[in-house]
Amino acid sequence: VDGYGIPLKMSSQPNANAQPSTSHTSGSNKREITFYNSLSRSKDVFEPILPGKVSMYTCGPTVYDYAHVGNFRAFLTYDTIKRVLQYFGYDVDHICNLTDIDDKIIKRCNEQNISLMELTHKFANLFMDDLKALNIVPARAYPRATDHIPEMVQLIQDLERNGLAYQSDEGSWYFNVAEKEGYGQQLVTLDLAGMKKRSGSETAGAIRGTDADEYDAEKVGLRDFALWKSHKPDFDRDDATWDTEIGRGRPGWHLECSAMAKKYLGDTIDLHAGGVDLTFPHHENEIAQSEGSSGCRFCNCWMHNGFVNIGAKDEKMSKSKGNFLTLRTACPKPDDVRAYRYLVVSSYYRNPLSFTDAAMGAARGALKRIDALRTKLDGVLENGGFSEGGVDGVIAPVVMEQLEKFDRAIADDLAMPRAAACLFAVLKAAEGEFKRFAKETKAAEKADSAVTVEPLDLAGLATVNHALLKMDKVFGLFY
Ligand SMILES: [Zn+2]
Repeated sequence: VDGYGIPLKMSSQPNANAQPSTSHTSGSNKREITFYNSLSRSKDVFEPILPGKVSMYTCGPTVYDYAHVGNFRAFLTYDTIKRVLQYFGYDVDHICNLTDIDDKIIKRCNEQNISLMELTHKFANLFMDDLKALNIVPARAYPRATDHIPEMVQLIQDLERNGLAYQSDEGSWYFNVAEKEGYGQQLVTLDLAGMKKRSGSETAGAIRGTDADEYDAEKVGLRDFALWKSHKPDFDRDDATWDTEIGRGRPGWHLECSAMAKKYLGDTIDLHAGGVDLTFPHHENEIAQSEGSSGCRFCNCWMHNGFVNIGAKDEKMSKSKGNFLTLRTACPKPDDVRAYRYLVVSSYYRNPLSFTDAAMGAARGALKRIDALRTKLDGVLENGGFSEGGVDGVIAPVVMEQLEKFDRAIADDLAMPRAAACLFAVLKAAEGEFKRFAKETKAAEKADSAVTVEPLDLAGLATVNHALLKMDKVFGLFY
């Protein structure tokens, strides 16, 4: 019995597709990392199943429209998690799905009179372009739901065998929530009274948080959710319908993540991330499906990032509110994209983030300062080399201290505001040295040769350059 009251065995093959661990550096950069785990509701020491290797699954976009800057906060958070793990020597096997079948996609195809493939490939490609523009480290794979129909069918059959799935008279398949011990108590704490069977007068919409749709009339329990939606001739399309052993239809959204996580990463994964809005029902349902079919713990660490708020009223950005900004409209210039990256990456991922002109202005200013110093460093270090001067300057000790603080900050549940402060402390030390040199040079020119100018502390500046490059492995701004 684990900490959540559910007996679960560990998977014998936690990471079926992974190679044996060879690359983990257990030496100087091994550090205890803590992450806030939504499963335990506490900051826990992160311990992957295989030492040095991390299997990581993240929920990707629904590819029917441009992703908005709120979505990109999630993708940048995934990137920061991954970069921090890689910084400390972990080998991260990351999978991010693309949702290319759901109600919204079908509606959009019908509106625009284009095929599912045409629509979803277009927006999948645009999504990849945006990831590149944001300097996001690519995942091993971005699997598409429609390429994994057999895996999803198999999962439903496994669930049925375990008494957790049933088919409605209309042919749809549902997850039987009442039969799943611990449902609604993993990432959330649901009122179990809401899980009782439907009585005549109740409607699913009356219960907050269920993903109510037109299939609700077919299900038995109010909180039961669709695994497979049977073909409805007046709504469904041929290019979004599959004939399978469990009937003619299409998969439910939650199912695809369980099926693809299992296929690419095995029954038990180390880390799963997503926006906080996915906690329930999506992630809770993933757990129910994966654990209900395999009997293994699905994921050991769940991480959720906060919303992006927008405008003077600090409203949550969402497509339904109509106040969403795509990356292209919010950041028309390449430097704006970098500034947006800095704004998100230097924030604390669990807090809400205000996307305002002032915040973007501050991010642009910070980048400008970083870029200016790097240009100066390039100018003096290119020809000056690393051999000049000693390490007895004032810069090197500052750099060493800040690098240590930086490591501590990023290992402390991605305390990126603290990490950014370290970066600027290093920057300031170098700026101070350039200022000192310029001032002395000017004074010497005024007084002719009477004043001696202490040369630039090139060794110290070289440590600054090294520290900035090291920190940028996490910030990802130098591109
Ligand atoms: Zn998902």
